Amino acid sequence: MTECVFCRIAQHDLNAKIVDEDGDFIAFHDAHPVAPVHLLVIPKRHVASFAEWTGVDPDVAGRWLLRARDLAASCGFAGAGYRVVINTGAEGGQTVAHLHLHLLAGRALLWPPG
Ligand code: AMP
Ligand code: ZN
Repeated sequence: MTECVFCRIAQHDLNAKIVDEDGDFIAFHDAHPVAPVHLLVIPKRHVASFAEWTGVDPDVAGRWLLRARDLAASCGFAGAGYRVVINTGAEGGQTVAHLHLHLLAGRALLWPPG
């Protein structure tokens, strides 16, 4: 059995508040939200980070990114705005070694984040 937390969520082996899913991706609420809406969108197939997503079909990568945009729109934030973040590696703030993007919305988000 995999030890990867996000693989376990993708396999429905670990509970998460799932909001969207297809054959390639799954989106769920972050367990420790830092904004009123804080979703994670992950590829179901394990890859450790954005940097290591080499050889990915650009169509798959594009659908991943557009999934975040469509989720933001379906949550009602297309007009107000939102942020999409891909923390990558230690200095990028990545703590879970399964590729994920954060969709943050529902409050004014400061920039730069620090
Ligand atoms: P990052 O720092 O970019 O690697 O973000 C990892 C995110 O995963 C953090 O925001 C965590 O709160 C979130 N997280 C970790 N474990 C879980 C889990 N089991 N379910 C949902 N979110 C999680
Ligand atoms: Zn994984």
